[in-house]
Amino acid sequence: MATQNYLLLGQKKRMIEQLRQRGISDENVLNAFDKMERHLFLESLLWPQAYEDTAIVISTDQTISKPSTVAFQSQLLEVRKGHKVLEIGTGSGFQAAILYAMGAKVYTVERQIALFKHTKPLLAQLAPSVVTYYGDGFKGYPAFAPYDRVIVTCGAPDIPQALLDQMVVGGIMVIPVGTESQIMKKIVKISDSEYEEEDFGDFVFVPMLKERVRK
Ligand code: SAH
Repeated sequence: MATQNYLLLGQKKRMIEQLRQRGISDENVLNAFDKMERHLFLESLLWPQAYEDTAIVISTDQTISKPSTVAFQSQLLEVRKGHKVLEIGTGSGFQAAILYAMGAKVYTVERQIALFKHTKPLLAQLAPSVVTYYGDGFKGYPAFAPYDRVIVTCGAPDIPQALLDQMVVGGIMVIPVGTESQIMKKIVKISDSEYEEEDFGDFVFVPMLKERVRK
């Protein structure tokens, strides 16, 4: 999906340099940021901001996460080609597309029907193997479980048991936990009932909310 817009191309290259300077060293993550064009996940009025390191509000309670946050979560997830990855919070679809570009088979869940309907065709075009699902992420996506990796891109009040259950032993979950602000947690499933947990700093995400909504 090579853009003809050289201004945006230059801005994308600079963004990738910034990600390197901020500690993103997984080449698979950096390559994915090179392949995927963030501006295509935004309306054209917002293209001038597409490669700044800021979250952008897309609609009432939905944002496209900052590039550095998307890169950080993607790096923590240790994605390898062929991994089955479950994402909770499809939103703009950008994070799902980055995981796709990293070689993962992505299943992504969104609770807002309007967003789901907006993003599904976009992903079909830009990241064709991504499976989109309109559902409540607290319940995961049992139809395709188990997953090698689980990534949550909204602020979770706690760690949903269904998501732990739907992960393989040896699997990794990256999830921001908290209400006002969140602590990024990496959870490794070491047996059917045992987990190792590590914290990776403070973040602010839109909240993970229960039940699907039709608006
Ligand atoms: N990954 C997205 C981030 C979007 S913001 C991106 O790259 O743009 C978080 C998203 O999580 C919002 O779209 C919100 O509607 C969604 N969300 C919140 N609670 C959810 C839940 N229980 N299940 C699924 N999606 C949820």
